[in-house]
Amino acid sequence: MSDQAATIGPVSTEDTDFDKDRARHEALSSEITEHRRRYYVDNEPTVSDAQFDELMHELVDIETRRPELKSSDSPTEQVGTFSEAFTPVRHLEKMLSLQDVFSEEEVRLWAERVSEEAAGAQYLCELKIDGLAVDLVYERGQLVRAATRGDGTTGEDVSANVATIAAVPQRLRAAEGFDVPELLEVRGEVYFPSADFEKLNEAQVAAGKAPFANPRNAAAGSLRQKDPAKTAERPLSFISHGLGALRGFRPESQSHSYAALEAWGLPTSPYWRVVDTMDEVFGYLHEFGAKRHELVHEIDGVVVKLDDIASQRRLGATSRTPRWAVAYKFAPEEVNTKLLDIKVSIGRTGRATPYAVLDPVRVAGSEVEFATLHNADQVKAKGVKIGDTVVVRKAGDVIPEVVAPVDAARDGSERDFAMPETCPECGSTLAPASEGDVDLRCPNARSCPAQLRERLFYLAGRHCFDVDRMGYIACTALVQPLEAEPVLKDEGGVFDLNMDELKPIRVVVRDPDSGLPKVDKKTGKDKIATPFAKQPHKKTGVIDPRKNAEEMLQNLKKARSQPLWRVLNALSIRHVGPVSAQALAEHFGDLDRIIEADEAEMADVDGVGPIIAAAVKDWFAVEWHREIIERWRAAGVRMRDEAPSGADAVAKTLVGATVVITGAIPDHTRESAAAAVKARGGKVTASVSKKTSAVVAGDKPGSKYEKAVELGVRVVPGEEFERMLEAGLSEGVESDPE
Ligand code: NAD
Repeated sequence: MSDQAATIGPVSTEDTDFDKDRARHEALSSEITEHRRRYYVDNEPTVSDAQFDELMHELVDIETRRPELKSSDSPTEQVGTFSEAFTPVRHLEKMLSLQDVFSEEEVRLWAERVSEEAAGAQYLCELKIDGLAVDLVYERGQLVRAATRGDGTTGEDVSANVATIAAVPQRLRAAEGFDVPELLEVRGEVYFPSADFEKLNEAQVAAGKAPFANPRNAAAGSLRQKDPAKTAERPLSFISHGLGALRGFRPESQSHSYAALEAWGLPTSPYWRVVDTMDEVFGYLHEFGAKRHELVHEIDGVVVKLDDIASQRRLGATSRTPRWAVAYKFAPEEVNTKLLDIKVSIGRTGRATPYAVLDPVRVAGSEVEFATLHNADQVKAKGVKIGDTVVVRKAGDVIPEVVAPVDAARDGSERDFAMPETCPECGSTLAPASEGDVDLRCPNARSCPAQLRERLFYLAGRHCFDVDRMGYIACTALVQPLEAEPVLKDEGGVFDLNMDELKPIRVVVRDPDSGLPKVDKKTGKDKIATPFAKQPHKKTGVIDPRKNAEEMLQNLKKARSQPLWRVLNALSIRHVGPVSAQALAEHFGDLDRIIEADEAEMADVDGVGPIIAAAVKDWFAVEWHREIIERWRAAGVRMRDEAPSGADAVAKTLVGATVVITGAIPDHTRESAAAAVKARGGKVTASVSKKTSAVVAGDKPGSKYEKAVELGVRVVPGEEFERMLEAGLSEGVESDPE
């Protein structure tokens, strides 16, 4: 109850609301302060950045409604904090944070606000590098001190550690047009290169230490070492992104300052761009949103600054952030959530993979309920226990994975996971396929419902027969109907299916990545569905299960004439994937020749090798496998390719890729460019959708380019068309399974 309410009588609703806000404000403030300490001082956060940002936003919200609750020691007024473990140093000029926003609309609103002070100003767009900020002070060109941001006024002296970073020059070099200034305070980001991050985590796990949750934590943990020799062992790097105190240098614009820094030998980003309009700003956001995993460092967003320094000065700063810049943050790819259980899923080649069953959480734009833990050794090495809070990561199209447990969030109730001895779906005893195999496998290849379901789904997929309407629920229904006998004993009968066998039948809905049953949130029981009842008709928009089932059968009929490599790939032979299937099909051209081939001849084929050759030989030696071939043959499935003519005999680099071509491509007509893509196994379509693998944008591209940017589809510039033909698109072709 507020003091006021206590003295002047009955409690009004307004007073109770105020009390509630005040209590929440207090609780949030201390929670945020504690998270900041864990993050900045201990480098051991217990919540994800997204969860932290949510708390901050709630606090900002309360203070916007109730300005009287805001005081100078509110977390919204502070930049961060620092540890006593390092010598404190005062920055010459305050180091600020950035105002962050999460939508384009908010970026637009920011632009409207600043335009009042800086009409017509240009924007400098750059990447928000996910590292940690440091402040470098150069006196007469000599680096005299390096410090972390700390609370913005006082940082931690990390000079000895920064001295081990090769990218940070000890001395600035003079350059034409850019005299070395008397005093230069540079701000930038120390980051851990993405390419080295996985190696670091492997080494951490091998040494029995918990892996780092992300490259930012790795950068902070590596830089803030008491022993600089330890920092020196880590491949840290640095990129400048701002200035503090200056003497003897007066840049006119942010971009001008970057040119000077570069001339003096300080690393700047190759990606910044000065633009005039908001549309160009959004173009930049989309471009780098799509490319965020192709860069040398992780980014968590894009920073938009006013380029003109006079405008920056006019706008000034709040106590925490400059008004002339805004950070647009991408949807988080890492979140923390509870690991409720660990279940084992069986893949199409029988491999048993432990999967985390999670308290469902939104990450990278979708809800995640299951995340892979790879294998039992990994669960042990990472030290993940059931009941843990874990860091879950989902980047782009990659299957979500559990990165690490959050040790600091444990309360002692967590328990160890033990790999089961039997297959969770058919009860067979799990065993390694051969000595030294780290994976356990279910040996019941033909009848294990999990293996057959996964093989069928793979067979219907885009690297095999590409059968539209044959989705995961339909495959489950053919193998594991709830109240009927399965229609298929193995995949031999798939081309003989008829409408009588495709009756609507109830099945347990499973997650297509893990194969694990999904739980209905309302009832707490397995989710149930019937096949073909989800997709509306392409033209009419009406959901007609019967029509969908008919379409699946028609598509299966068409699929019989798919080229040989797809047929071979659809057999789910261990180690054989699209790449080796193509190599075999191209060399032998005929399935019977592959069956009869000598193992040594097969192993000699470029892209095959002895392991695959042995696996292929073993596979065809099994009787029920040969029966599948005979049933498919009898159903009219293509068993041989026409011999490739000279012009067709190019490497199939674009198999599985759908490409859209727009604008003028150097040395090509539209037809010849399309033919070149098709000759390499790719599909060419006229319109851009989320399923498009790449848009080749030549000179004067039209709306297709814009659409690609809008949907985050990869854009290949016209000049790189030949290179794409030669090297392919890495995501166009899946690697071969183990
Ligand atoms: P911020 O990271 O959102 O933005 C400011 C920082 O961005 C700058 O200090 C600078 O270091 C960096 N930056 C990167 N590229 C830049 C560029 N091109 N130009 C300018 N600056 C650039 O804000 P913050 O104040 O550093 O801290 C908040 C961040 O830390 C948030 O992401 C927050 O979620 C996270 N955090 C997490 C926890 C936790 O418990 N998980 C606790 C505290 C803070």
